[in-house]
Amino acid sequence: MSCLEMPRQPVPNFLDKQERDFNAPETMQPRAPGEIPAEAKNGGRVKAQDVAPEGVYLPNYNFLTPNMRSPEYVQMSTAAAITLGVMKGLMHRTSCTRCLNLLLTYPEGCRANCAYCGLARHREAERNYADRNFIRVDWPAVPYDQVIDIVAAGGDGGRFHRMCISMITHPRSDDDTRVVLKKWVERVKHVPVSILSNPTTMTRLDVQELYDIGAEIFTVALDACNREVFDRTRGRGVQSPHSWDKYWEIIHAAAEIFGPERFGAHLIVGMGESDHDVISQVQRIRDLGGHSHMFAFFPEKGSLMDHLPPVPRPQWRRVQVARYLIDYRGHHIDRMRFDETGQLVDFGVAKDDLDEVIDAGTAFRTSGCPGKEATDISACDRPYGDSPVRDIASYPFKLNRQDIRKVRRQLDKGMPGGCCEG
Ligand code: SF4
Repeated sequence: MSCLEMPRQPVPNFLDKQERDFNAPETMQPRAPGEIPAEAKNGGRVKAQDVAPEGVYLPNYNFLTPNMRSPEYVQMSTAAAITLGVMKGLMHRTSCTRCLNLLLTYPEGCRANCAYCGLARHREAERNYADRNFIRVDWPAVPYDQVIDIVAAGGDGGRFHRMCISMITHPRSDDDTRVVLKKWVERVKHVPVSILSNPTTMTRLDVQELYDIGAEIFTVALDACNREVFDRTRGRGVQSPHSWDKYWEIIHAAAEIFGPERFGAHLIVGMGESDHDVISQVQRIRDLGGHSHMFAFFPEKGSLMDHLPPVPRPQWRRVQVARYLIDYRGHHIDRMRFDETGQLVDFGVAKDDLDEVIDAGTAFRTSGCPGKEATDISACDRPYGDSPVRDIASYPFKLNRQDIRKVRRQLDKGMPGGCCEG
């Protein structure tokens, strides 16, 4: 394999049709989930086979899926597994990831059913939890003690700048997150931990406990940029348990407990919201002292939205710039202008300042919790998590001059009268 492209993840052919200005709500309707055979529900197949786990489990290698559970086992992104040295592979234009993204794992999997997510509950029908693709890649499962032993001994060569625990919607997830976090902070002092939380099962006290144990940053995968998109993609619309108000309740708790620069929220762009919807959430989070971590919507294979178009690059680029201006340049949404459909038409900054931001390229890199390089450069670089290598949405590396020319062309198409090319 020449790069981080999973062989069973074909690139949808609509990637070449980037003339749409934005993904309108009426086009972004998830399909209905199918029936799940009774024997597949709640990890039934894996529990019935009850194969004992042994060492690292690589998904889709034609082995029976073992009966693995956190906190003994965790899954990790393919990029993290390559960086840790437990899996072989090459990544396009980058040799490692700076973030060890861990995912709690259970045969029952995530009990939520988010329409854009490869881990969603409806996939029980066709694929065991530990074999599901998530943000376009496989997630190998590794004994957690082995992970800690390698990093504590410096086996990653200092390449990890951060570790992140992704909770999922599961009754054990709150307790097991505490166990995984505690073990890490006791043995690994040089790699700080972020939590990617699951607000649905959490209280303010849970947030406080994670802070007390030693988590450095707390994030919430709000994902949707308005209440309607939230309900449609991860609430009642797809028989999923999440609620917009509960997510915001936990964001507010994180802002108070973790404090400024120590919390954030994930937002996905291109699921049927306007630019104004996205940028107003970015501003709201910034006003509380946090940062937004943005993802370009990409139709994840096997998800309930795998038939829908990815976010058009012009929309994605202008929202990336707006988010960077607000999060790292002290800019404000009130100084930006939008058209009657809510699409951004003016950044509200001087041309020289805009050129400087574009030429620096940082705005177009993957956004997330910072590493050791700079406060505006994410450790969590998620190589090709939201796009194929031939059409990169979030750059997992520093952009070169050719990359900058490409994003300028894309940005120019997305602004009335152009703004950025030439
Ligand atoms: S809660 Fe998270 S992991 Fe579970 S289906 Fe939703 S987005 Fe996926």
